[in-house]
Amino acid sequence: MKKVTNRAFSVLLLVALVLAGTGVYLFRLVRDGGDWATFYANRSVYTDGVLNRGSVTDRNGTVLAAAGEDAFHYAEDAAVRRGCLHVVGDLGGNIGTSILSIFRDRFIDYSFFTGTTTKGASMKLTLDADISAAAYNALAGKKGTVLVSNYQTGEILCMVSTPGWDPEQGVPSDPEDGAFINRAISSTFTPGSVFKLVTMAAAIENIPDIWDQTFTCTGSTVIGGQTVKCSGVHGTLTVEKGLACSCNVVFGNVAAQLGGDLISQYAEKYGLTSAHALNGDIPTAAGSVPAAVGDGDAAWEGIGQYEDLVNPYAFLRFIGAIANGGAVVEPTILAGKRCGTTQLMEPSTAQTLSEMMSYNVSYEYGTWAYPGLEIHAKTGTAETYGGTHAWFAGFITNANAPLSFVVLAERAGSGYGVASPIANTVLQKAVSVLG
Ligand SMILES: [Zn+2]
Repeated sequence: MKKVTNRAFSVLLLVALVLAGTGVYLFRLVRDGGDWATFYANRSVYTDGVLNRGSVTDRNGTVLAAAGEDAFHYAEDAAVRRGCLHVVGDLGGNIGTSILSIFRDRFIDYSFFTGTTTKGASMKLTLDADISAAAYNALAGKKGTVLVSNYQTGEILCMVSTPGWDPEQGVPSDPEDGAFINRAISSTFTPGSVFKLVTMAAAIENIPDIWDQTFTCTGSTVIGGQTVKCSGVHGTLTVEKGLACSCNVVFGNVAAQLGGDLISQYAEKYGLTSAHALNGDIPTAAGSVPAAVGDGDAAWEGIGQYEDLVNPYAFLRFIGAIANGGAVVEPTILAGKRCGTTQLMEPSTAQTLSEMMSYNVSYEYGTWAYPGLEIHAKTGTAETYGGTHAWFAGFITNANAPLSFVVLAERAGSGYGVASPIANTVLQKAVSVLG
C-alpha cells in the first residue's frame, strides 16, 4: 500500500512539473513571442538577414532603406546613406538606437495564432536627405555630429553622426572607433562656452544688477584661488559684450556670483542633465553638471568646463526653447508625429538670450559669415584631453526655415573656426531646400 502511495505521489509530482513548465512556456510565449518572431534569425521574415518587405523614407519620400527584389538596399546617394546611417540603422542591428532597431516591430507583424507575417510597413521620417548629405559632407571626415530641427514643429531634419560606414557595403572588418554610436543622442561632451548660455540665463534671473556691472579682462584673473585664463584681452566690458567675446573673465566672475549649486540647478531645469526619449522610444544620454564647491570651481563650471558634460540632443532642446519663446516643441523623427511642448524657461529670459545671441553675430562673429541667414548663435571651444571640441549652436529665424541647430566637431579646433562654417554650409542648404 505504501509503495502504491509513493508511485501515485511520483506521478502527481511529474504531472505538476509538466503543468508548471507548460505554464512558464505559455507565459513566455505570450510575453516574448513578438521578440522571438522578430529575432534576426527568423527566416520567414529575414532571408539571409534581409527584410522581405518594408521601407524607410525621408520627409520627401526619398528612400533611405528598402527591401528590393533580391536584397535590402539603402539610399542611392552615398552621402545620404552615410548621413542618415545612425538614424536609419542597418539590418545587422549594429546601432541600437536606430529606426530599424527600435521600431523593428512596425515592419514585422507578429500574430500569436498565425506566426510571423511582414507588414510591409513604410515609415516616413522627418529627416531631409539633402540636408543630411550636406551635413555629412561638411563634417569632411571629422568625428562629430550635426543636428538641425524645426523649432516650431519639433521635426528633426538632420541628425548626422560620424564616423560611421556605408551600409550598402556592409560593416567594415575594422570599423572606426565609435562608429556604432549615434553621437547626437548617445554621447556626452564637455560643452565649453556654449554652456555660457545657461550661466547667462541664471544671471538674468538671479543677479538684479547684471546689466549695470562691468568687468575688466586682462587675459586672466584669479577667482577663488584659481587662475582663470581667457582666450583674449578684452579690456573693460559689459556682460552682453562678454557673451559675444565669450570672455572667461566675465563669465568666471558671473559664475562665482551665482555659485556652483545654482548653475547646476539651471542645467537640470533646462533638461541638460536628464535622459530623454525621442518619440517616446529612442533613449538619449543624460548629461552631468555637478555643483562645484568654492568660487574657483564654480567659475569653471559656469564656463562649461569643470566636470560639465552635455548631450547634443539635450542641448538642441535647450536651444529650441530659446528660439521658441521658452517652450520647447519636443523633437520628433517620425513624420506626422507631434510630441507636445515643454516650458523650459521664462519667456522673458528666452527673449533676452535670443537678443544676445543675435548680438553675438552682429558684434563679434560677423553677419558676412552667414549670408542670408537671420542667425542667433554661440560658439564653444571646449578643452578636453587630446584637443578642443568645436561647438556652434543656435537658431535662424528666416521665414520659411525656423531652424535650431547644434554642430559639434570632436577635438577639431575652435568653435568659430571649425564648427561655425559647417553650420553655415548646412543652414544654407536647408534654407534653399525649404525654399
Ligand atoms: Zn576676456
